[in-house]
Amino acid sequence: MLKVNKQDEPDFFKKFKKIEKPTSWNDYNKFKIKTDLKKFMLENEQDGYCPYCEQKIDFSKEESHIEHIKPRNGGYPELFQTYDNMITCCNEKYTCGNAKKDKYDNRLFINPVEENPEEYIYYDIMNGKIIPKYLDGIEYEKARYTIELLNLNNIKLVELRKRIIEVMGYLNKDDLEIYIQNKDINFISLVKYIREEYF
Ligand SMILES: [Zn+2]
Repeated sequence: MLKVNKQDEPDFFKKFKKIEKPTSWNDYNKFKIKTDLKKFMLENEQDGYCPYCEQKIDFSKEESHIEHIKPRNGGYPELFQTYDNMITCCNEKYTCGNAKKDKYDNRLFINPVEENPEEYIYYDIMNGKIIPKYLDGIEYEKARYTIELLNLNNIKLVELRKRIIEVMGYLNKDDLEIYIQNKDINFISLVKYIREEYF
């Protein structure tokens, strides 16, 4: 899971809200603003990643949707067009936004806009799983809740992470730097974690 460094709300979005005066999220379906927003956030704030699962995505309808971190239908209807509540999320069926849906506990969810997930979670490189960094306390509770809600130890994600761990096992230090430069690399926090701990 990756920190999202939100920029100022883009002017095209401010202008859109002022002119169209949307009253609900449904109003957004009429316009191509969703695509523009997804593109802007992905390119300027997310480095092309779904912040939850860390897979590279694009801004097409097939690959991504706008995720409201505090869910519109889960207690936060007034945040339907609040820029800081939006990220571009993957369309994976069983993880991330599609697993989270309208469930959300504000006390326990690690909001990647407000906090750095790295402070709560890291990896077990023996099995490719994301695990809580702390053994108890609120930090542990938050990590456990967020991993479960987003289903980040889903079998597909775990298998993909295992593959990266395996590949990195064959690299020497110079290869590693080249490997990290690869623009299409998924699971970047795992890669950086392994670099820090094992190289
Ligand atoms: Zn995802």
